[in-house]
Amino acid sequence: MLKELTRAALVSMLPLCTSCQPTPPAEAPPASVALAPSLGTALNQHPAAKLQPIVCSDPTLVHATVVTGPHGPILENATVELTDGVIRRVVPGSAEQLEAAAPDCVVSVEGRFVLAGFWNTHVHFTDPVFNDLSSAEARIQEMLLRYGFTSVVDTGADPRVLHSLRKAIAGRGIRGPRIVIAGGSFVYKDGTPSYLPKGLLPEIALPGEAPPAVEAVLDAGADGIKIFSGSFQTPTHTIYLPPDVIGAITDAAHRRDAFVVAHPTDREGLVNAVDNGVDILAHTAPPAGTLDPELLERMREAKVALTPTLKLWRWELKRHGVPEQGIQSYVQRGVTQLRDYHAAGGEVLFGTDVGYMQDFDTTEEFALMASAGLDFHDLLATLTTHPARRFTETQGTIAEGEPADLVILQRDPTEDVTALAEIEATLRAGEVVYQRQ
Ligand SMILES: [Zn+2]
Repeated sequence: MLKELTRAALVSMLPLCTSCQPTPPAEAPPASVALAPSLGTALNQHPAAKLQPIVCSDPTLVHATVVTGPHGPILENATVELTDGVIRRVVPGSAEQLEAAAPDCVVSVEGRFVLAGFWNTHVHFTDPVFNDLSSAEARIQEMLLRYGFTSVVDTGADPRVLHSLRKAIAGRGIRGPRIVIAGGSFVYKDGTPSYLPKGLLPEIALPGEAPPAVEAVLDAGADGIKIFSGSFQTPTHTIYLPPDVIGAITDAAHRRDAFVVAHPTDREGLVNAVDNGVDILAHTAPPAGTLDPELLERMREAKVALTPTLKLWRWELKRHGVPEQGIQSYVQRGVTQLRDYHAAGGEVLFGTDVGYMQDFDTTEEFALMASAGLDFHDLLATLTTHPARRFTETQGTIAEGEPADLVILQRDPTEDVTALAEIEATLRAGEVVYQRQ
């Protein structure tokens, strides 16, 4: 692969996932995110018609096709009752009876598919737009809620911004997802990636420095730790966190029941992470090439989760002018790594690196993951049950007692997985946080 790309192209394609790096303003996507209620809309009775505006919290959804989970039953003509941001009941085949007795906000979602809310496990709230709550809300709609994300993992942003957003969302001052924070962004000595300002990221050179550094980040409110097990400097030079330092970081984090997510960059960064307790790989690592079965088995046994970020590779290489052939080859290496790890029984988490990547549409990621052999059920697990169980006490399914985090789709995702990108409405804790106009 390396021989197929120019040096300039290689340099340009490696500065990926620039944690803590301010990103340029997004090309403004269409702001189709308003939630203005319209009065007097009749109950929609035809699947092709527009969904009626949902103007109340904790609506009762009737005539729904409910996909209860990746491997759970699909319930036809079901009713989903919500109370205080939690799923109260899910009842198949009895909509008429419940509708008659239901409270004031009953919404027919006939012909629609209701799924548990999605997770994006690799995002960044680094854009300056997030510094101001009034401008943050619109971007959160465009970037996350519009694609069904009711929970996200930030893997590198200013903690003050993250805590401000979390507080505003929890207080319902703005609409947004649950935010899990991976803090730190630790590198080895002089190991800030060359595409970031020199010395920007905090350094850990010796194992003994790890526990206080990790604890300070967790004490400040992070849920997990981000590290650069491999940090890009030049096409031929990566600075690695030494294995014993990675081990000291993961030990310190695990003592606090916190996770560690690593940016691997290449094979050595990946292997050092896997063999020293890292829980999650933030990307595939195309420069590492095909991962051999023995390594895949070590990853699976260590219960390492992989967030592929496949669409990111094309987006990054293309904007730096890498020829199409080089892009295809690079992306295919990522697809192959995902295919092999999934086939080996490894856990996969959905994640796209949005916030760094300024193209928010998830369609291509679903298509690429499908090309790696993940079917609808596998994809739904990466979006719901896998991350929910890893990051929370919830299950990521539609069941009594689960959070009322829901996604409503117009098209059947079991027929075409790209329907997972076409969101009609998103509910977070029972509140409609996005509805397509
Ligand atoms: Zn990233």
